[in-house]
Amino acid sequence: MESKFVDIHTHRVKDCDDLVQIVNLDLEQPCLEQDYYSYGIHPWDLDNAEFQLEKALQTLEEKLKLPQVVALGEAGLDKMHKTSFERQIKLFERQIELSEAMQKPMILHDVRSHNEIIALRKKHKARQPWILHGFSGTEQDIKQLIGQGIYLSVGESLLHPKRKISKSFKFIDLDYLFLETDMAKIGIETIYETAANLLEMDIDVLRAQIFSNFARLFGLEK
Ligand SMILES: [Zn+2]
Repeated sequence: MESKFVDIHTHRVKDCDDLVQIVNLDLEQPCLEQDYYSYGIHPWDLDNAEFQLEKALQTLEEKLKLPQVVALGEAGLDKMHKTSFERQIKLFERQIELSEAMQKPMILHDVRSHNEIIALRKKHKARQPWILHGFSGTEQDIKQLIGQGIYLSVGESLLHPKRKISKSFKFIDLDYLFLETDMAKIGIETIYETAANLLEMDIDVLRAQIFSNFARLFGLEK
């Protein structure tokens, strides 16, 4: 089977034969049949005065029943955000339960909350794969997160040689690596090229590796 590029987390649909992508949508946005999608309740959604937890969880559960919705996300914790951390944890725990019940992996939003995320993964004995998106941490963070079986997805920050991720990137176990464009208006190929350079690796080999990670986690390919 041909190894396509994988964009594990994006907010923009790109039309390209050579690519599989997980498109992140808001709960009120409909998805199509082609492509793969993720829906989740972002911790920032708690800021909205009209937010209703039970209603949102119900809508989310309906979305997760669709076969093309392959992951729950973004969900997670953000210590730099104004919403009470306690409320964020409650929301996140409900989504952990849903991910386990529906057997759909989670895509995580994590801002300075590695320790809490790991503690909650243990507390809930979560079996579903978790992919921490927009990862830009240190070698130490990599060891801590992959040690708990959490996958790391790296995006646009890799294109800035002065950021710490440029140095730590090579320490990510390739079996736990994904790449993403997220909000960035660039092609995923650009991120693959930079990643292959940093790893001193042939881009086709990297492509095969990440595609096999995708196939292993999601057990599917369109
Ligand atoms: Zn995103």
